[in-house]
Amino acid sequence: MSGHNTVPQGTRVLCPDCGRPCIVAGSPDEAHQPLTRSNTSEGRCATCALVKWVTETPPLDRLAREQAGVAFRRSHVREAVLKMLAVGNCPIAPAEIDWPVFSERLDEIAAKAAPQVAQYNESLERLKARSAREAAERKAQNAGEETP
Ligand SMILES: [Zn+2]
Repeated sequence: MSGHNTVPQGTRVLCPDCGRPCIVAGSPDEAHQPLTRSNTSEGRCATCALVKWVTETPPLDRLAREQAGVAFRRSHVREAVLKMLAVGNCPIAPAEIDWPVFSERLDEIAAKAAPQVAQYNESLERLKARSAREAAERKAQNAGEETP
């Protein structure tokens, strides 16, 4: 990516998301989807890269939003995610994903988003109540018109 600092393979950096030590692993390869190696000091650890992907990719983003880390504590969900990585020829080995940290990070993200989600649900409820009220008014009006 332009604007990012390319650093030599093997350089020790800290993951910008979780702060854990990482080693710059190599050049990005577009044939590797959805995750690839990084050659910049901004690259994330495999776990955080997976968190970013899951929270930005439908339909997993919805699962992550609605269930946070809970869904990904189930082995069949983890296996499905790992299969998606394998299909994309992703160079990340399953052992590189720290699932407990992964679920904790999703829980943190969900906790941060919780006030926004509550606000969203509240306005959705208000909208529903309003359209129900309007429908009832229309019905009453129609009933009035039908009366001779
Ligand atoms: Zn990380």
